[in-house]
Amino acid sequence: MTDPQPAAAGGPLDPASLEAAVAEALAALAAAADLTDLAAVRAAHVDGRSAALVLARQKLGSLPREDRADAGRRLNDALGAVRDAHATRLAELTAERDARVLVEERVDVTMPTRRRHAGARHPLAVLSERLVDTFVAMGYEVAEGPEVEHDWFNFEALNFYPDHPARSEHDTLFVEPAGTGRVLRTHTSPVQVRALLSRPLPVYVVAPGRTYRNDTVDATHSPVFGQLECLAVDEGITMADLRGTLEVFAAELFGTGLTTRLRPSYFPFTEPSAELDVQCFNCRGESARQPCRVCSDEGWIEAGGCGMVDPNVLRAAGIDATRYSGFAFGMGLERAAMMRHGVREIRDFVDGDVRFSLPFGIEG
Ligand SMILES: [Zn+2]
Repeated sequence: MTDPQPAAAGGPLDPASLEAAVAEALAALAAAADLTDLAAVRAAHVDGRSAALVLARQKLGSLPREDRADAGRRLNDALGAVRDAHATRLAELTAERDARVLVEERVDVTMPTRRRHAGARHPLAVLSERLVDTFVAMGYEVAEGPEVEHDWFNFEALNFYPDHPARSEHDTLFVEPAGTGRVLRTHTSPVQVRALLSRPLPVYVVAPGRTYRNDTVDATHSPVFGQLECLAVDEGITMADLRGTLEVFAAELFGTGLTTRLRPSYFPFTEPSAELDVQCFNCRGESARQPCRVCSDEGWIEAGGCGMVDPNVLRAAGIDATRYSGFAFGMGLERAAMMRHGVREIRDFVDGDVRFSLPFGIEG
């Protein structure tokens, strides 16, 4: 840089001034001790409003036309050198900071603690989450609804006729005052209706939750129990989709390689309806391995009810039943957990004794 431009001589764009500005910037960058320092140096020397090179660029327009090209090139070279030096220093200081954080924030995972076991997760919660995960992995969303439900959601919209026996006080717990139409939901199926009313189609939801019936507690009955159900409504859904979904579900619940079968059944909200049976995971239906306490020598375990969503249910939710179809599947969580873990008494699940839950608590 030995040919000073007369018009620029002495100004911020002459070679000597630029060289001095670059040298000063490089020295400041090298001297920055940490990222905070570097941010200040950047403002003062690289691209801050008062940086010498930024001020020099503002003078470019005032140079005589014939001098602008050379001055612009010199300025760009200078800016490039300073920016490169800043990037290099930034990388160095960031690496130093990261290395320091690793040392300073290290946690000694071998330190002994005196943590006491607070309890255990409830086996139904553990099972429910595991099954929900299976559906979420297939693209389903989790849906929930209230446990105190309106008769319309619990029965009417699900195609239960007004005189259906399930709607009697024999089976259903009504909420006072009488006549408000409020019930403790007898199944998780009202969540299906809520999902269809509130979500855009297609709908793929899995609904776990607590449900209630007017039952007295004994070894196999409880007035409160857990259910889990899934609902898929889309264009072109068939029974084959239901079957495929249930195979994945059965493998997650009882293990792989087990045959499933559908037995004709009846539910008000599905048509056709079926019971899902899964081959007994204990004896696999082989008489040589029986007597079998899991399936009482049936060779099959009843795993839940399912079917194609009745068009009346779709219509109740305002859906065009000529265009959309769907399937639903529901199951009792206690029953599945009893089968899976050989639990004899359903009341163990509601007693709240932590000694019952502890052996299940670590299962994820
Ligand atoms: Zn068996």
